[in-house]
Amino acid sequence: MYEDHYIFTPGPVKMSQEILDVGAKQTPYFRNCEFSNVVYHCEKGLIDIVNAPEGSKVIFLTASGTAGMESVVMNLLNSNDNALVVNGGGFGARFVDICNIHDVPNTNFQVNNTNLKDIEALAPQDKFSSLIVNAHETSVGHLYDLTALGEYTKNNNMMYIVDAISMLVTDELDMQKSHIDVVIASSQKGFALPPGLTMVVLSPTALEKLQSVKSLYFNFKDYLSNGERGQTPYTPAVTIMLQLEARLNQIVRRGGITQSIASAREVADYFRLSIKGLPLKVASLFMPNAMTALTPTDGKSALDIVNDLENKYKVMVCPNGGDERDTIFRVSHMGDMTKEYTDVLIDALFDYYKVSRN
Ligand SMILES: *Cc1c(COP(=O)(O)O)cnc(C)c1O
Repeated sequence: MYEDHYIFTPGPVKMSQEILDVGAKQTPYFRNCEFSNVVYHCEKGLIDIVNAPEGSKVIFLTASGTAGMESVVMNLLNSNDNALVVNGGGFGARFVDICNIHDVPNTNFQVNNTNLKDIEALAPQDKFSSLIVNAHETSVGHLYDLTALGEYTKNNNMMYIVDAISMLVTDELDMQKSHIDVVIASSQKGFALPPGLTMVVLSPTALEKLQSVKSLYFNFKDYLSNGERGQTPYTPAVTIMLQLEARLNQIVRRGGITQSIASAREVADYFRLSIKGLPLKVASLFMPNAMTALTPTDGKSALDIVNDLENKYKVMVCPNGGDERDTIFRVSHMGDMTKEYTDVLIDALFDYYKVSRN
């Protein structure tokens, strides 16, 4: 499906041939040292990417990113907590739902048009035990100031949980610099792998707070004890783990995480600059490198644009949901992106608007 299409959707994203080739191979048996080494290697690579503090551990779950979000709430929060949940869109709202389902007292902190640099002034003045945030609120293309939030959680002695699913690899995240306790990642966004693997990085502070849970599959303690020997309690997404190992090697080979972020920024800047002559304006003031959210300024329906790009140009971008389907569409810069590849979308947009690109 869509094999001859150009992919600018925010997950799954454009994958590189190298990673696709790994996915085409026979899935190997995994209860052995060879595979344990893959797991160790993936854990080490992830810890490096987020600059996790010494003694941090990674949980690998065979599930989509939402399971990462939910399992973190289940293993780290309970009815004695009071979580401050940043809600700037669909994914923030999902964390509120998860807290409610698991009876975790929470404050739904609805935010708009701010990256929370001034969180101290904006946050409700109650006492909170933890802060939960989606670093990049993918539903609107909005990036929060992780370091400002980290100062706030440090000053107020709060646990700091970050869903970094849609900004890892393309945008900066440093657990030590920003005092982050938990990072949630997922395979199908910046890592540019197939969906099916979610990863949770736990700092030593978070590890100490782990509690008993009423769940077999989402019991982090089980994952940690199996992790000692490079294994998971249940069958992992073996092939995606092999692809993750290859991807982590690829990131290092291409100059490391700093270089990955710089390349993503270059492509995002190039795209934003290139479309300046078109009746489209950016929908957020605080965009990540990962994505550009656009609003048509000529009254055209965003959904019509998305459909036309797919049908006439074989270019896939993503509509917003609900009320915003006619006003906002999103362009991902995650994955195996280059300026040349992005030119296909830019040229399509210029052709669509019958404007010549110079
Ligand atoms: C994609 C995404 C998720 C995970 O969604 P799944 O469909 O469960 O993989 C979670 N948080 C954010 C911010 C995302 O962009």
